[in-house]
Amino acid sequence: MSENLHTRALQLVAKARVEGLADSERDWLAAHLQDCDFCNEHAQQTDRALRALRTAAISVPAGLASRTQFRVRLRAMELSEREPQRRMLWLACAASWIVGIASAPYVWRMFMARRTHRHAQARLANWIRSLVDHSRAVRGQRPASGERAADRRAGLDEARQLTLSRKA
Ligand SMILES: [Zn+2]
Repeated sequence: MSENLHTRALQLVAKARVEGLADSERDWLAAHLQDCDFCNEHAQQTDRALRALRTAAISVPAGLASRTQFRVRLRAMELSEREPQRRMLWLACAASWIVGIASAPYVWRMFMARRTHRHAQARLANWIRSLVDHSRAVRGQRPASGERAADRRAGLDEARQLTLSRKA
């Protein structure tokens, strides 16, 4: 069999799954796949890969998605009676939450799979700690760390000296 025939067959295998085939193309491909083990195996592998992609379920804590959807719908109904203008804005926010919640475990899994666990966990823990420190520092609850407290004290002393020298 000529190389061109196999190339055409593999192109049609792909085309069938993207845009569909004309009747003549479908007949020709079916006949080729019956005779050619190589192309037949390729077609089956493509189907298996696509099926695996489609069924790669993203696990969400049980009931969370449906509870969230229920609350969103309830709130949307409330708003549509009182404030129809704000309804669309609210729905858009809700949609982004749902996508965020649904994708979080998936993103997490990808993140963990990409790096060695201990390294990733240490980096993530450091990052979270720095966020917490930062938000505390912003709210002025307490200094982010001993070092920063010392920095701040040094800064205050400097400012005090500046104002003193200006007054003098
Ligand atoms: Zn072939």
